[in-house]
Amino acid sequence: MRGRAAAAALCLVAHAAAQPVPQPRVLLFFSLNVEADHVLFATDALRFFAEVADRHDFRVEATSNWADMADENLKQYKLVVWLNGSPPGAQQQAFQRYMENGGAWLGFHVSAYNDRNSRWEWFKQFIGGGAFGVNNWPPLPARLIVDDTGSPVTRGIPKTFVAPVNEWYSWRPSPRLDRNVHVLLTLDPAQYPLGIKGLITNQDPDVPVVWTNTKYKMLYMNMGHGDKIFTSDTQNRLIENGILWLLSRSDP
Ligand code: ZN
Repeated sequence: MRGRAAAAALCLVAHAAAQPVPQPRVLLFFSLNVEADHVLFATDALRFFAEVADRHDFRVEATSNWADMADENLKQYKLVVWLNGSPPGAQQQAFQRYMENGGAWLGFHVSAYNDRNSRWEWFKQFIGGGAFGVNNWPPLPARLIVDDTGSPVTRGIPKTFVAPVNEWYSWRPSPRLDRNVHVLLTLDPAQYPLGIKGLITNQDPDVPVVWTNTKYKMLYMNMGHGDKIFTSDTQNRLIENGILWLLSRSDP
């Protein structure tokens, strides 16, 4: 009997060990009732995330309902992504609590937009203190400089590269001036003025494009306008690196 009990116990241990580790879950928020070029980006991004999730064994879910930004729901997710918008007032506190309790966030393009009419002060600090300044128009490719080649986010990315067509934003003041912000990529000012109708000029000498606020597990990427964002293997790798970094516990 003792032998059988021991065998049964061993069997239980083996069974427990064979249980697969649950896949980390990622929740993508997207909006359809926004600028057409921001919908195009979100559509491509949903596909891109699904492919990365297949390769790296995590699970992606997507919603266009901001009511899903609620404490109980967010607990299930290791990473929350805003593809083309930010939550209305009723959901902002839940997001703040999620981030302050160790959640991870990846935001693209317009999701960080704020101006003097924005009332969400916490978010403005979270994003590095900058309000939207100007943007180039029409959307254009741009040369980017990698500020930190040692980060897991920029692994395998050359020191400079040309990113696909995007509408680039400047920020005032530059998020780099926030001591908690670590800038990973910047628009190369050598290409100024950038744009035709809308211009980024030397009035904005420092335009960070990808950065993290080191107080949080977060990453902001200014890319996210139109249907060309995922046409660069280099930039795709950068975005994939960013997702994997946020899903891991490694330091920046
Ligand atoms: Zn845009």
